[in-house]
Amino acid sequence: MKPWWTQGTCYTDDAKRWDTETLTPGLEAEEAQTLCHGCPVIQKCAADAIKPIRMPPVYRLNADGERELVEPGYDITVTGVVRAGVPT
Ligand code: SF4
Repeated sequence: MKPWWTQGTCYTDDAKRWDTETLTPGLEAEEAQTLCHGCPVIQKCAADAIKPIRMPPVYRLNADGERELVEPGYDITVTGVVRAGVPT
C-alpha cells in the first residue's frame, strides 16, 4: 500500500509550487488554499503537518568503547512549504 502523500496533488505536480517563496507577497493565504483545493488527502496532510519530526540523538564512542551522548534528540517543525492549504 502506497503512503498517503503519494495521493496528494503536490506529489504529481511541480513540487516547487508549494514552496512558500514562490507565493505572491500579500496573497500567500489565498494562493496556498488554491494549491491544495480539492486534494484528496488534505485531512491527512493537515494532521501530519502539526506533528513535529523527531531528530534522533547523536552518540560517539569514547576511548573505552563506551557510547557517549553528544547531542540529545530534538523536535523540528518543517517550514517554508504549503501544507493542507496553509503556508508554514
Ligand atoms: S493538501 Fe496540499 S500540501 Fe497536502 S498533500 Fe495535498 S496538495 Fe500536498
